[in-house]
Amino acid sequence: MSTVATKTPLKGGEFLVKETAYEDIFTPEQWSEEQRMIAQTCHDFLAQEVWPIMDRLDNKEEGLMEKVLDKAAELGLLGLNIPEQYGGFEKDFLTGMLSTEAIGAGNSFAVSVAAHTGIGTLPILYYGNDAQKAKYLPKLATGEWKACYCLTEPGAGSDANSGKTKAVLSSDGKHYVINGQKMWITNSGFAHVFIVFAKIDDDKNLSAFIVEKDFGGVTLNPEEHKMGIKGSSTRQVFFNDCKVPVENLLSTRENGFKIAVNILNVGRIKLAAAALGGAKQIINHSVEYANQRVQFNHPIGTYGAIQHKMAEQAILAFACETALYRASQNIEDAINGLIEGGMAKDQAILKGVEQFAVEAAIMKVFGSEVLDFIADEGVQIYGGMGYSADAPMERAYRDSRINRIFEGTNEINRLLTVDMMIRRAMKGEIDLLGPATKIAGELMSIPDFGSPDTALFATEKKYIKNFKKAALMVAGSAVQKLMTNLSSEQEIVMNIADMLIDVYVGESLQLRVEKLVSVKGEEACALHLDMLRTWLADSAERIHKAGKDAICSFAEGDEQRIMLSGLKRFTKTDPYNTKNARRRIAAKMSAENKYCF
Ligand SMILES: Cc1cc2nc3c(=O)[nH]c(=O)nc-3n(C[C@H](O)[C@H](O)[C@H](O)COP(=O)(O)OP(=O)(O)OC[C@H]3O[C@@H](n4cnc5c(N)ncnc54)[C@H](O)[C@@H]3O)c2cc1C
Repeated sequence: MSTVATKTPLKGGEFLVKETAYEDIFTPEQWSEEQRMIAQTCHDFLAQEVWPIMDRLDNKEEGLMEKVLDKAAELGLLGLNIPEQYGGFEKDFLTGMLSTEAIGAGNSFAVSVAAHTGIGTLPILYYGNDAQKAKYLPKLATGEWKACYCLTEPGAGSDANSGKTKAVLSSDGKHYVINGQKMWITNSGFAHVFIVFAKIDDDKNLSAFIVEKDFGGVTLNPEEHKMGIKGSSTRQVFFNDCKVPVENLLSTRENGFKIAVNILNVGRIKLAAAALGGAKQIINHSVEYANQRVQFNHPIGTYGAIQHKMAEQAILAFACETALYRASQNIEDAINGLIEGGMAKDQAILKGVEQFAVEAAIMKVFGSEVLDFIADEGVQIYGGMGYSADAPMERAYRDSRINRIFEGTNEINRLLTVDMMIRRAMKGEIDLLGPATKIAGELMSIPDFGSPDTALFATEKKYIKNFKKAALMVAGSAVQKLMTNLSSEQEIVMNIADMLIDVYVGESLQLRVEKLVSVKGEEACALHLDMLRTWLADSAERIHKAGKDAICSFAEGDEQRIMLSGLKRFTKTDPYNTKNARRRIAAKMSAENKYCF
């Protein structure tokens, strides 16, 4: 599989303090023929087997979701990431991300696939021993057995390590006997294999087990009545003296929380891919509708208010795609580097993703919020039909909402983003202190108003550089001032996380557009430049607002005044006519009758 290796890879989180050359990022324009074909296969499968029966799936027609999953398995779609020796296709990380994006347009079907191939299968793939892999992976790859992941409990959601489910070794030492209750378990209604997290005796940390439904002692509540993704099975699962053979302990005792966290790291970036797939589908519907719906004698897509919405949908989806695959390639490169260094592949995948856990959390938040925004505007473009279950937007709107809740809520992921950055800095893995100190010095100096650099992208790069300074200034001062109290000043942490998200996505966007221009020329990329410049104009305002809120929360007097003036300087952008830029973007979408970037 051809993927382009980056030349000077940054470590995870280093984007804040280091620059990246556009040549060093992967962009979707580089997908190989084979990768495009896999994505097309996923898309065709949805068009033929899923979308036409969405109502029946959402009505939970008995056995239907399992049948569609079986059909997907026949095409190999459940085994893309599983090694060939276990009956899978052993595709690389990026290809897995692309197929997740393509299937992501499949609403509740996509959620069932993700629960099976992701959180249900990956714990065995990455932490199973040879015997466990040989027993389970071939059946999971073919879909003969379906999998689910049982972490959440009624009293243990975001605080997942606080679960009460217990495992006790039987007197003959042959079984763990599991008792407890799990909640919100996707695929549980039809799963054969349950990855169950429980504490052995009075352990502090969770352990993980592979539980087969046929072991006995596993019962289910009826299906939950959910707001959206109604076609996916979600139930409470009860373990009553469920006897699990000792050889079904995954990895080692008390390693379960680590397994849960590492699997969620993979799940988070994959969730962003799925959200992107859903978002592009919604935009396609939005543009088609805006073109054909006539009011006041004109298609509604000719009106500025609707063009603004379509363009904004496109800018956000394009930005999301750009940052997503930049991070994915970074992960792929890290994995390959670790394998070359002698690490086993499964371990390398986990470590590679862990190295970019900051970016994965950023993408989880950004991807899910982009999808929600795009779905909301999709409903609005459809007007009354947006509210009708006979048109696609009503389902899209309801189904989108879950993404901000599962795989760690967006609040938890924002907290994690900042926490991981600070921890890495404290461990000396990223030098945040040096650059932050330099900026503090810059605040006291007279700004350099030297002659402007008129080279293409000079201005955009300057903005990104300044946005980084704004984020570093606020984060550095907050850490210095509040020290360990920062974690209890969550509003400030949220502000910092929002700044980091804007910086990461904005820089990714700038690099992709620069790369595109280097290949196709400025004229051919005029709309991409429109997207970039519109993003930067809005981003400056967002970063300023988040920074100001934070500074006013922890600084006073002269210190506050100096920092606010620095923030103003770092978020200053030249006036830009975003209205006309959005009109140009929307006009292209209308002409193509789809999302076309
Ligand atoms: C449809 C669906 C499918 C799911 N599938 C699965 C599955 O397959 N397997 C599985 O194990 N789980 C699954 N979940 C569970 C999901 O991961 C949890 O719902 C999620 O982690 C949040 O936990 P909670 O619902 O208990 O919310 P809580 O943890 O109670 O959170 C409630 C609110 O408080 C906030 N909050 C919590 N703690 C903090 C804090 N320290 N600081 C600031 N804010 C905080 C949260 O962000 C949220 O806004 C699923 C959930 C749903 C709804």
